[in-house]
Amino acid sequence: MKTPAYTGRFAPTPSGYLHFGSLIAALASFLDARSVGGRWLVRMEDLDPPREQPGAADAILRTLESYGLEWDGAVLYQSQRHEAYQAIIDQWLRQGLAYACTCSRKTVEHYAGIYPGLCRNAGHPWHDAAIRIRVPELRYGFDDRVQGRFEQHLGTEAGDFVIRRRDGFYAYQLAVVLDDGLQGVTDIVRGADLLDSTPRQLYLQELLGLPAPRYLHVPLITQPDGHKLGKSYRSPPLEAGQAPALLTRALRALGQRPPDTLEHLPVQEALQWAIEHWSPSSIPCKRALPEASL
Ligand code: GLU
Ligand code: ZN
Repeated sequence: MKTPAYTGRFAPTPSGYLHFGSLIAALASFLDARSVGGRWLVRMEDLDPPREQPGAADAILRTLESYGLEWDGAVLYQSQRHEAYQAIIDQWLRQGLAYACTCSRKTVEHYAGIYPGLCRNAGHPWHDAAIRIRVPELRYGFDDRVQGRFEQHLGTEAGDFVIRRRDGFYAYQLAVVLDDGLQGVTDIVRGADLLDSTPRQLYLQELLGLPAPRYLHVPLITQPDGHKLGKSYRSPPLEAGQAPALLTRALRALGQRPPDTLEHLPVQEALQWAIEHWSPSSIPCKRALPEASL
């Protein structure tokens, strides 16, 4: 089977509706794929039902459609992938790469979240415990297409991290790597809040024998209090009628230079302009952009 040269994806978590910050990530990933004739997938990261908002997954998909961001193929739902996640965890447990951890949240907080492997050799039973992966005392890094070189020492900056939570839910770090691998994703374009997660994901890719994708982290849009947009309050869904105006605003946030007339065009035409003029090297090399500055 021929592997396409470019496969990108947008991977929203249905804990809320699509907001302006996630629209920027979706748009950047869409334009980066379409400007080179690549595939663009949507994956629903519905790993954490207690944090999900009923109806949010469908609402996100309807918003993407009304904003003209049409994806290829069927949406992959992570809630349908538990068996695959568990199979790899079982393998790593048998190989001694992963282990059960019964430490309390308080203990982990004591180490500022960088878990020093206290339970590595404890031999705790695997059920009713968090499962952690051992990390090597090595630096993992990559060259981000916008943010430049980014490295982390896994032992001292990440620590052995959770791949299945004590409550039985699978961790984002594991699911994202397995599914990007399954879907043949070559290019990951997402918010800069995930820069810190990337070295851990590179390590899991290495364990799984997966090729490392290219990465492009776009600036995160922050509220006046410095928080990620959409996180600390429930943003209302983006309205279809606002699509041309918000797409134009999102393009400006991404350093593109849409003409003023763009927001008066039908969505498909505005996107066509954006695909033809996509300039990833114009994206601001910043981790965060205050919403008020846009
Ligand atoms: N589901 C993650 C989020 O909404 C994004 C995962 C990714 O793009 O790697 O923050
Ligand atoms: Zn422990």
